[in-house]
This record gives sequence, structure tokens and C-alpha cells, in this order.
Amino acid sequence: MKIAVLKEEAGETRCAAIPETVKKFTALGADVAVECKAGDGASVADSDFAAAGATVGSRAEALKDADVILTVSGPEPQTLKGAKPGAMLVGGLDPLRRRDAIGAYASAGIEALAMEWMPRITRAQSMDVLSSQSNLAGYKAVIEAADAYGRAFPMMMTAAGTISPAKVFVMGVGVAGLQAIATAKRLGAQVSATDVRSATREQIQSLGAKPIFVENVAGIEGEGAGGYATEMSEEYQKAQAELVSGHIAKQDIVVTTALIPGRPAPRLISDAQVASMRPGSVIVDLAADAGGNVEGTVAGTSVAVHGVTIIGASNLARSLAADASALFARNLYNFLSAFWDKDQGRPVLPDEDEIVKAIRLSKDGKVVNERLTAG
Ligand code: NAD
Repeated sequence: MKIAVLKEEAGETRCAAIPETVKKFTALGADVAVECKAGDGASVADSDFAAAGATVGSRAEALKDADVILTVSGPEPQTLKGAKPGAMLVGGLDPLRRRDAIGAYASAGIEALAMEWMPRITRAQSMDVLSSQSNLAGYKAVIEAADAYGRAFPMMMTAAGTISPAKVFVMGVGVAGLQAIATAKRLGAQVSATDVRSATREQIQSLGAKPIFVENVAGIEGEGAGGYATEMSEEYQKAQAELVSGHIAKQDIVVTTALIPGRPAPRLISDAQVASMRPGSVIVDLAADAGGNVEGTVAGTSVAVHGVTIIGASNLARSLAADASALFARNLYNFLSAFWDKDQGRPVLPDEDEIVKAIRLSKDGKVVNERLTAG
């Protein structure tokens, strides 16, 4: 049983393994082969992987006879030449945006397993790469906002006078939003937050922040389906826009994280609302890659609009490569070890398992996932 760890494409700083997970896979009886410089972006040297028991070599050497190939963001299919048919490719594969690549993995006989389609069930929590990476992104969003903001976050009483605390508003209180609230609180800001799912009200309060909710139109009961939101009615959107208009003009920092699975991100802040903010305010739009929650967001860059800096945050977890890799690598280990068959000395994925059905994209030369084959 051999596990290959690939060096990611340019721009991807994270690595799908860390020395700790190499040791754990070795303890399960696997051989781990790491491609040279795979850990460079995450500050893990080839020698660290070797010391943990991996062999380090070229991509061809790593891929040769590998049963499992680990990746963070999915290799170009042509770079997998030499992988053996039937090998599992496990990692973040972005299936909806990389349909051609998934088709090519299938044609090469590779069993592609997309970690981002992990179902939100208790058993799979420790395997959930979206959560582990969103948590770091929520933290980094606030750090970026603090960096771009020309004022301090905490209240300071100095001999030269008092500095007022920054007012931070978090829109969308999932994994990233909760961490954004916690981080802004730690920095001493006055924090408020909103969501469409009613279960988040208590979570906001438990972090010491103020919930700001649409009261006259019903939102989504409890957690929502699988913890996910759906698109809201026009009536709700109108009520939410009014609520935001009243609140946002008094805010210094806004962090938006609202996402709806399989749909463009909901528009939560209009250009007129941006204009109502004080010059020097900062908005970090964590939904930038999904189209943005804010009118005027440009993914991957920051723009100044009406004196307000709008940061189109794109994959912020990459800027925390060491921690992001450690969590991602453990998610991969938790997944593979949960399905490890001790007698066969390898992971065995039953066709009818809820997790397998959700994340398996291709098998035996064909694309098999309903989300890709339907329609
Ligand atoms: P997400 O990234 O899909 O969305 C972020 C947030 O935006 C959500 O809270 C959503 O309700 C909110 N949102 C959507 N539309 C909005 C709108 N119009 N206005 C305001 N807010 C809006 O969500 P997420 O961070 O991945 O997780 C959401 C929930 O799922 C959390 O409660 C989390 O604990 C749960 N979860 C459970 C598991 C598990 O059990 N394995 C794993 C991950 C997440």
C-alpha cells in the first residue's frame, strides 16, 4: 500500500500531508512517497518528511505504483501520467468548476474523491476540509481588515486621549463567521452579526456579540438543512436590506461570509450602502470567489469605493499555509483511516456508505457522482 503526496500547482501554498500524518499512515502499514518540495509553501522541508519516514523523490517516483494520491487542489490530469489505474485521488477537487479534469481522471481509471463534498454528518466532522479551511479564513479576514483599517480595534485610553473601539459587523455566521466574530472580539472590537438561520442567534450571543436579525419576516428555522442556507424570499431580502441599511452606516468593519450551496453568493450590500459608510471603513468579502456578497467586490484584490476599502478575499486559508496544511492533512488522514481495512492493509470504500456516495466522483473509468451526471 503506497500513498503519494503531490507538490501542488503554482499558487497553492498548502500541502496535503505533514510529518505527523506521514507517521500515522506509516503506523497503519502504508509507505508514503512525497514529491520533492511538496511542503515548501507550508514551511515543511523535504528532510522533515524524510525524518517522519517518507521517501522523497520526483513526481514520477511518487506516483509509480501509488494506491492513493493526496492533493489539496487537484492536479492537472496530464501530470498524473504513470499513476496506476484504480488509484484513489483524494483531496479538494473543485468538481463543479473542474468538470473536464474530473472527466480526464475518470478516463485515466483514477477513482477521484472530492473532500469538499463530505456530507455534514457527525461522523464526518473530523474529515471536513471546508470547515477546517473556513475557520482559518474567518480568522484571517479580520486580520486583513485590521491591517487595512487606519485605526485601532480596541478602545485605548491614553494620555493623548481616548481611541474608540472599532465596530465590526459579521454577515453570515457559519464556520468562518463564528471565527471572525471570535477574532474581532479578541482584538477588542464591538461586534455584531447576522444570519438567516435562527440557530446562529444563540451562537452569536455566546461569543459576546450582538445579534442583528430580521424580525418581521421569518428566516430559516434552526440550523437549516444540513447547516446550509437557501435563497431567501423577496420579502425577506427587502426586510434584510432595510435592516442592513440602518446598521451598516455605523460600522467600521464588515466581514461577509454568506454562501448558498450550488448558487451564486447572495448580494447583501449594495453600492449605496457602501457609500453610507464612513471613509476609511473596510469590508472583507469572503464570498468573493462565489460572486461576492458586496456590490463592487473584485475577487483576489482590494478596491477603494466611496472611500471604503473592499477586499475581495480569495482562498485566505492559503495565506496560513502551515496551519491550513496541518488541518487539511489531518482531515485526509481521518477520512482514510476511518475506512482502513486492517486485514487488507488499505482503505476500502463501500459503495453504499453515505460518505463514499457523496464524495466519489469517478470509478472504473466512469464519472459516477450524481451531482456531475444529472442534467
Ligand atoms: P456556508 O459557508 O454555506 O455559509 C456561511 C453562512 O452564510 C451560513 O451560516 C449561512 O446561513 C449564511 N447565509 C447564507 N445566506 C445568507 C443571507 N442571505 N444572509 C445572511 N447570512 C446568510 O456555511 P458553513 O460555514 O459551511 O456552515 C454552516 C453550518 O453548518 C454551521 O452551523 C456549521 O456548524 C454546520 N456544519 C456542520 C458540519 C458537520 O456536522 N459535519 C460541518 C460543517 C458545518
